[in-house]
Formats: sequence, C-alpha cells, structure tokens
Amino acid sequence: MTNQALEVTGLRKRYKGFALKDVTFSLPRGYVMGLVGPNGAGKTTIIKLIMNLVRREAGEIRVFGLDNRRDEAAVKARIGFVYDEPGFHQDVTLADTKRAIAPFYRRWNERLFQDLARRFELPLRHKVKTLSQGMLTKFALALALAHEADLLILDEPTSGLDPVFRRELLHGLSGLLQNEETSILFSTHITTDLERIADYVTVLRDGAVALTASRDELRERWAIVRGGDEALAALAPPLWRGVRRHAYGVDVLTSDVEAARRTCGTGAVIDRASLDDVVVLLDREVPHA
Ligand code: ATP
Repeated sequence: MTNQALEVTGLRKRYKGFALKDVTFSLPRGYVMGLVGPNGAGKTTIIKLIMNLVRREAGEIRVFGLDNRRDEAAVKARIGFVYDEPGFHQDVTLADTKRAIAPFYRRWNERLFQDLARRFELPLRHKVKTLSQGMLTKFALALALAHEADLLILDEPTSGLDPVFRRELLHGLSGLLQNEETSILFSTHITTDLERIADYVTVLRDGAVALTASRDELRERWAIVRGGDEALAALAPPLWRGVRRHAYGVDVLTSDVEAARRTCGTGAVIDRASLDDVVVLLDREVPHA
C-alpha cells in the first residue's frame, strides 16, 4: 500500500499561450497541501487533470496508487471535489440536489450531512439560484465531506467567502474531517490561507512548479536575511532565492539558513520566512511597496 494520497509526475498540458511544464509533486496520506500561484498559473488545469476532465499530453497521476484514467471510477469514489463553479441545477432546491447526488456515493453519511448543513446554516429548502457564491461553496463542501472521501480536492474553496467564514473554514476543516487519514489538496492565490492549514505547499508559476516542500522544511531551512548591501556581501548568490529592495537595504530570501548564519556579516538580521515571504519573493526581485 502506498503512503501517498496523490502523486503527479511529469504532467504536461498545452493550451494556446499556456503550457503545464512537467508538473511533479506528491501529497502523503493524511496531510493538507496548498497549491498556490497567481491567476493563470495552472492550478485549475492541474485539478481538472486529476479529475480526468481534460486530456493531457504527458504525465502520470496516481491517487492512492491507482491510475486516475485506468481506474477512474475507483479513484473518483475516493475523491470529494469542490470546484469553483459547481454545476448545480439553478431551479432545484439544495435538499433535492443532495437527494439526487447522494446515491452515487458508496459511503454517504446522511447524519454528517445534516450536521454540516446546520453548522453552515444552509437553507436546504431554497433553490440553488437564490444562493450566494459563498453559500454554494459551503453546500458543495458539505456534500464532499458527507461522502467521507479519502482525498478532498478544493479548487479555490475560499474565493467567494467572506473573511470570517474563510478563517472558520480553514480552522475548522481538519475538525470537520471524520477521519484523520483524509488528505486535502486545495488551490488558492491567497497565501495567508496557507499559513493556517497547509502541511505542504506547491508553488506554481507559469505552468511550472517553482517549489514543492513541506511546511516543516520551509520553517527549518528558509529564512529572510535583512541588511544593507555590505552586511549581505558575504552571502553567496546561490543562497539568494529572491530579493526585496528597500531604500535602506535588502531582504534576501534564502533556502539555507545555516549557510546564511555562517557567512553573513554581523550587520545582517536573520528572521524566519513566512509562507507569504516564500511565495512572493521566490525567484523574484521585488521592489518594496
Ligand atoms: P485562476 O486562479 O485564475 O483560476 P489558475 O491558476 O487556476 O488561475 P488555469 O485556470 O489553470 O489557472 O489556467 C491556466 C491558463 O490556461 C490560463 O492562461 C487560461 O487562460 C488557460 N486555459 C485554461 N483552460 C483553457 C481552455 N479550455 N482553453 C484554452 N485556454 C485555457
């Protein structure tokens, strides 16, 4: 039995003016990965490829060791999917939508659904068309959680939500899971979302993986070195993974805090890099706002 919930290897997909370039990352069972990148970086395309909704040019996708095309039915039975535009019928109530969808799942948990509906304050007797984007996201999430999926895939789950519910959702998500073995892949362009729940982060830029790493690795090895040009002169360029320039010096993102400590002058200050620092500065030279 593999201990990976998801393994994406050498994935390629081409649209006019856009290409996914050998995308490779993996998510161990029971963990949460944030797929982060600016608009158009390819997050939704990767998620659609995992769900086998579009064709790829190359690459392999395995979900709990199963090939997502050859074993499509078995793979989909284990995935709970929340897409940013859920395709529910507009004129049907939430209760009837649920009634139509639930029989397709082997492990439907009606009690859990009703519990989530209460917690999320879902108006089950109302029609889909009367709901806000945030409410629809909550509904889609309740459906995904109630079939006790082993892997939840959430495409921009927080995008239509107000900040209060966004925080609640991110805090509560792990508590909502029935099983500690449940794995989650969620895409976002809001880096503060990652700080709250992600155990792993995959950063996408222009269809390529700029970084895939665990939070622990980022915490232990990545840092921001702050100082004037003189203090930073000893820091060898290979240690520079990104730069933010100020009127009075520079902040350098480094992936090797130990080497930075050994080589930097006393005028430099070394701070822990937040996920936001890593995502914003990686491979970039950013002028200070
Ligand atoms: P967002 O945060 O805006 O949702 P994203 O990272 O999810 O962005 P994708 O939706 O995967 O990005 O899109 C990546 C690129 O592929 C974009 O340039 C988009 O215009 C293009 N693209 C996506 N789907 C198609 C399609 N069906 N036909 C042509 N181009 C497409």
